[in-house]
Amino acid sequence: MFAYFWPKFDTHEIRILDDAKVENVRLTDRFNSRQHIIGTLYLTSTHLIFIDPEGKRETWILHSLISSVDKLPTTQHGCPLRVRTKHFLSAEFTIPKERDCADLYATLNQLKPDSYEKLYCFLYQAPNYLEKIWDPFLLTTEYMRMGVPNVDWKIEDGNSNFDMCDTYPPLIYVPTLTTKAMLFGSSKFRSRGRLPVLTYLHPNGASITRCSQPLSGFSARCQEDEQLLQCILKTNPHSNTMYIIDTRPRINAVANRAAGKGYENEGYYSNIQFKFCPIENIHIMRNSLQKLLETCEMKNPTMNQYLNALDNSSWLQHIKSVLDAAIFIARAIEIEKKNVLVHCSDGWDRTAQCCSLSSLLLCPYYRSIHGFRMLIEKEWLSFGHKFSDRCGHTTTSDSKEQSPIFLQFIESVWQLSQIYPTAFEFNERFLISLHDHSHSCQYGDFVGNCEKDRLDLCVKERTYSFWNYILQNVNDFKNPLFCPQSSYASEVLLPVINPQTLKFWLSMYHRFDSALLPKENISNTLTRLVDHTLSLSDHARLLEKRIRELHSIFDNDRTKIPTTTSSSTTTTTTTSNEDVDDSDIEKGNHHKKISLSELDSGLSEAELCQTRIIDSISLKSNTILQPLPTLSSSDVESGFSGDYSPHGKTPLSSFTLPHQSSIDTNDIPTIERIALELNSIALDWRSYHTPVHCACSLPFDSAQRKYNCWKCGENFCARCIERGIHLPGLYSNSSAPVCKTCARSIKSSPSFADFSALVKSKSTEFIRNQTAMKLSRSMIDQFNDDR
Ligand SMILES: [Zn+2]
Ligand SMILES: [Zn+2]
Repeated sequence: MFAYFWPKFDTHEIRILDDAKVENVRLTDRFNSRQHIIGTLYLTSTHLIFIDPEGKRETWILHSLISSVDKLPTTQHGCPLRVRTKHFLSAEFTIPKERDCADLYATLNQLKPDSYEKLYCFLYQAPNYLEKIWDPFLLTTEYMRMGVPNVDWKIEDGNSNFDMCDTYPPLIYVPTLTTKAMLFGSSKFRSRGRLPVLTYLHPNGASITRCSQPLSGFSARCQEDEQLLQCILKTNPHSNTMYIIDTRPRINAVANRAAGKGYENEGYYSNIQFKFCPIENIHIMRNSLQKLLETCEMKNPTMNQYLNALDNSSWLQHIKSVLDAAIFIARAIEIEKKNVLVHCSDGWDRTAQCCSLSSLLLCPYYRSIHGFRMLIEKEWLSFGHKFSDRCGHTTTSDSKEQSPIFLQFIESVWQLSQIYPTAFEFNERFLISLHDHSHSCQYGDFVGNCEKDRLDLCVKERTYSFWNYILQNVNDFKNPLFCPQSSYASEVLLPVINPQTLKFWLSMYHRFDSALLPKENISNTLTRLVDHTLSLSDHARLLEKRIRELHSIFDNDRTKIPTTTSSSTTTTTTTSNEDVDDSDIEKGNHHKKISLSELDSGLSEAELCQTRIIDSISLKSNTILQPLPTLSSSDVESGFSGDYSPHGKTPLSSFTLPHQSSIDTNDIPTIERIALELNSIALDWRSYHTPVHCACSLPFDSAQRKYNCWKCGENFCARCIERGIHLPGLYSNSSAPVCKTCARSIKSSPSFADFSALVKSKSTEFIRNQTAMKLSRSMIDQFNDDR
């Protein structure tokens, strides 16, 4: 039997125990059985790790992401074991000895958690920068953002002990005209007690409400339920009728009648327009994903075979049906100004998909990272999507309950982001991470089947939050094409989905097959360009400052000599709060002053004079650098020049100097300091598409961000990057991502100690201001801004 060991996260130091590893394991390429690499397989309590020391490759597989382990027929090389994961990795390991293979197979199966308490989130030790802090999500705040409660809608606390419905949140929002008796009566008439409640209120007064199917059978009726629907209808002054959308195929809804469930009888509910928007059930969706994944595993298919297999999976057909239903709801709200009540069977799968997607189309706020979080918290977490059952978090959940409902939602959002590339603040990596962590159980957010489960498990006290992880790494998840000013980013989206509109999501389902992925990802390339430009502009600001300081000395010296130039005395002296005033560290550091002959900045007096004029004009626009979707002449002015060549002409001016008019000869930087500054910034950055693996051997897949080290310019993965390093060559308070080797070399440099002492003192003040800003930014303020 394998003993297992605990790895140290975010480090390379893996303590290897002899009985937890198998050597000479062959990892075979899934498309080409002749291609393989030989390495060692390690088993830890949390991961299965394959390391090929020669080829420098590592594959880490989190146990909670493993979906199946299969023993394949023995070959001449040993016993193959195929490990498939919920994030679409399929790895075939051939173990030389049959006994080792049997042991590994048994242990991997044993490691699957058989209770909530054994889930990864209760063991996970996050890196130091992440704390067990949960940014509070308050349902009341999200409803206040929508202007609720108001004259038509009120908060109802009848579910505070989960008496009405144990899969709903404690507080629900219902029409003001309703009574408790009406609500309790309706909840008894609805499957699982999931009565109609408000989920989205549009500025035009039309609303989306959600519930489960009525227990109507062939003829049963419920007066309270009928009254509740009439109250919902009356909240909207613009329409005398409302829609009830049943998101099941009609035949399924009819079949449910035989079981005493079904759908609303139009004869009993007045002024109702009933409509089916057919989306298949969880079992058909599970089979469809299975067929899609089989298509992805086809070895050397012909075009026909591939297209037929993709078609037979019906995956894109199902995505289209989900999007069509959501678009129908959005049109009913925006164009017809009618209230819509949505349900399926229990109202936690198709209903969650349709309500969240239609809200996303209707409200631009939900297309921001913060807003999207609110959408997930509200529609998926608060209203009880069964994450643990649908994702199969523990072995106790029924395998027939598993279904890719959340994945379909994520993919539908991705398809929309392909139609409207500038409308979403988040990128593809964000969506992939969200999907993966709904399965990984690394964070406590998606554990359990409803709010009550998470309260019982005390996840907020015991685990880390996925949203905190996103917040701490938010730049990794931003879409560089997002343009908040564009009409698509600020208006209701009502696309028409044709079959030709939908794409196969290569970087989700083939993310580990680098040979199949595009060689260059435009979004990543843009992010890299924005970062590179930021580093160069910031460095240029510092160089400008140095040149001016030296020039001032030159001028001071000249005052002793009659001179004809006078530009140096006509300076602008605007200062920016963000600028690092590094005169302090230079004090007492003046043992080696620069002589006048070393001061030649290479700029003529006229150029310097021009620089100062540009400074005074462009100071504002350069203080905060924003990612820009397109380049224009004004962009060139603001430093986003089309000339990204590190050897190209650095744009003149991005700031004015705090001390340029009164420079003290004691404030002059030393040669060592200037050398440190110049050497701390890479002018050339390696392009993203070159390396497939990080230097640490970890493969880059589409869910992993590649970072350029700002000092050496090479590509690294997240675990090889050190954050929080303030580079001497930058003229700002912000820290930059630096590889661990560069971080060591910078820290060991003699001038760095002085520099970091200064930055620390400046940063403390800066962070204090930032924290104060964060704390004071209440959700309400943000809501007001977003409106
Ligand atoms: Zn580096
Ligand atoms: Zn790495």
